[in-house]
Amino acid sequence: MGEFDLIARYFTRPAPAPGHTVALGVGDDCAVLTPTPGHQWLVSTDMLVEGRHFLSTVQPQRLGHKALAVNLSDLAASGGTPRACFLSLALPRLDEAFLAGFSEGLFALADAHGLVLAGGDTTAGPLNINITIMGEVPQGQALLRSGARAGDDLWVSGTLGDARLALEVFRGHVSLPGDQFDSVRLAMELPQPRVALGRALRGLASSAIDVSDGLAGDLGHILHRSAVGARLHLADLPRSAVLGAMPEDLQRLCLLTGGDDYELVFTAPAEARDRVLEAGRQSATPVYRIGRIEPQPGLRLVDGEGRELDLALQGFDHFKS
Ligand code: ADP
Ligand code: MG
Repeated sequence: MGEFDLIARYFTRPAPAPGHTVALGVGDDCAVLTPTPGHQWLVSTDMLVEGRHFLSTVQPQRLGHKALAVNLSDLAASGGTPRACFLSLALPRLDEAFLAGFSEGLFALADAHGLVLAGGDTTAGPLNINITIMGEVPQGQALLRSGARAGDDLWVSGTLGDARLALEVFRGHVSLPGDQFDSVRLAMELPQPRVALGRALRGLASSAIDVSDGLAGDLGHILHRSAVGARLHLADLPRSAVLGAMPEDLQRLCLLTGGDDYELVFTAPAEARDRVLEAGRQSATPVYRIGRIEPQPGLRLVDGEGRELDLALQGFDHFKS
């Protein structure tokens, strides 16, 4: 099978319905996209490299899902409606079982979000997956990192830390009973991007970001871009029952520095509290208030009694690889 047969077989599907943003997809020199009047494009790209972003043992279907999920998560954090994506693949060999599984996982998630694969590039080389995603947002309504204001509530969706806990198990630092490992492994390998929540937060959240590198670091980007600080309540950080049963220092590591969560962290004015809860219900996404934006720069972590804790995170070093 040559390059063109491979593209035809695994990455070409029937043309989208007339009226879709993607007027012409895979097969020509360029895709042709028709923008919705009064909207702006949101464009993001993410590369996944074997050994760094995923383990060689992951099922191809899950890899296809995750490669797209990390891109959809960026779009979600901007409040976008998914429209089109582009896939650039470097493949060490022509492995049809891999391609079948990978494309199945990718298209299942794309279909769930009305997203069309509109083109890409395929080449031989060390396994490398790059996806560029394009979405739309009504003019001026994109959620940015820069809008947080002192007095705003700080919110997060879902639960944090399970993907990092799974990684610690893979690294041999932690052991878990089989069913518990399966549940945290799902969080790591099949993250569900919060696209519906992001859209529901348009015109409501003052800032947003998705948690890909750990809550402390990603929240730090909002604080930096918005020139504010935050008080974060450790006891209020949502976690699974599995993570909640782990030693305190491991919980902290996973919750604050874990990464790979693909939840949304966002801020909203305190008066909007009920509307934020309504946005969560509307999008069937749990949302939790975890702190407050303050004028003083920096991130302050407090315990259940309001005492400030050291954010330096010393004592976690034995979990580092
Ligand atoms: P060109 O040489 O003109 O760049 P290619 O041979 O690279 O064209 O690609 C042919 C068509 O297949 C193009 O429409 C391109 O977007 C699409 N394509 C190539 N690789 C992929 C892929 N991995 N996924 C989706 N579409 C792809
Ligand atoms: Mg090409």
